[in-house]
Amino acid sequence: MAHPKEERTVVLVKPDGVMRGLVGEILTRFERRGLKILALKLVYPSREHAAGHYSGSDDWIKGMGNKTIETFAKYGIDVVKEMGSSDAFEIGKKVQEWNVNYLAMGPVVAIVLEGMHAITTVRKIVGNTLPILAETGTIRGDYSIDTNTAANVDKRAIRNIVHASGDPSEAEHEIKHWFKADELMSYKRSDEDVMFS
Ligand code: GDP
Ligand code: MG
Repeated sequence: MAHPKEERTVVLVKPDGVMRGLVGEILTRFERRGLKILALKLVYPSREHAAGHYSGSDDWIKGMGNKTIETFAKYGIDVVKEMGSSDAFEIGKKVQEWNVNYLAMGPVVAIVLEGMHAITTVRKIVGNTLPILAETGTIRGDYSIDTNTAANVDKRAIRNIVHASGDPSEAEHEIKHWFKADELMSYKRSDEDVMFS
């Protein structure tokens, strides 16, 4: 097993974050927490490349569809009328397409971060998927305000500024998807000895 301080994760500053000039603010939050930047680049993803990022399992797609069905039910909106289907997988596929539209609408900053339990730590810094539920002090809670209710009715992905890998297998897929092996740097941060030894 790799040491917990060597865990790696992928963060994307999504196009709304880049276009709003938030890249510096976002990076600062990870750097000051003690996470090391191993790789970083600005990419304007093609639709194909964006789709490859969201190549989730059938269960993930179905889960996304179910979430959407629940939101429509909660607000008394006819899901078949809005989405043309009541099937969770079909609806999940549409949400996935909205995600591709979102990610391919402008430049993205792709980052690999390494550090103590990086996946969990980064998700905490990023905050809840739904900006409206994200705690103040998190990136999404400080800089975004969208909700799934609005996003589903407007037929688009929730605008939440950043992506962060959800688990180790997602992280592994995303590192390979955005970077070549030789684009990841190996170096020592000056505070490592003070923090970890
Ligand atoms: P994340 O890991 O916190 O980004 O959330 P997920 O992996 O569950 O979803 C991926 C992305 O899909 C999110 O960041 C949102 O942009 C979008 N998304 C998630 N859930 C919904 C939803 O219910 N409706 C819509 N329209 N978009 C969603
Ligand atoms: Mg996710």
